[in-house]
Amino acid sequence: MNIPESRDFVVEHRPKCCDKQVDTMGYNLTNSIQHFVCRGCGNKVDIKYWPLCEDDIRDLKLNVLL
Ligand SMILES: [Zn+2]
Repeated sequence: MNIPESRDFVVEHRPKCCDKQVDTMGYNLTNSIQHFVCRGCGNKVDIKYWPLCEDDIRDLKLNVLL
C-alpha cells in the first residue's frame, strides 16, 4: 500500500459512532493523521494513516478503534 492508498483505506474503514460512520475531516500530511468527526455527538477521532501495520489494518477492518 502506498500513502494515498493507505489514507483511502482508513477513510473507507473509518470507525462508527452513533450508529453511522464518522465523517471525514481534513488530513495532516506532516504527521499522516486523518481527522474524523461524528455529526451526531461531535466526537472527534484521529487515525494515523501512514504507516499502517498489519494489526492496524485488521483492527480497522474489524472497526474496533472506538
Ligand atoms: Zn457519535
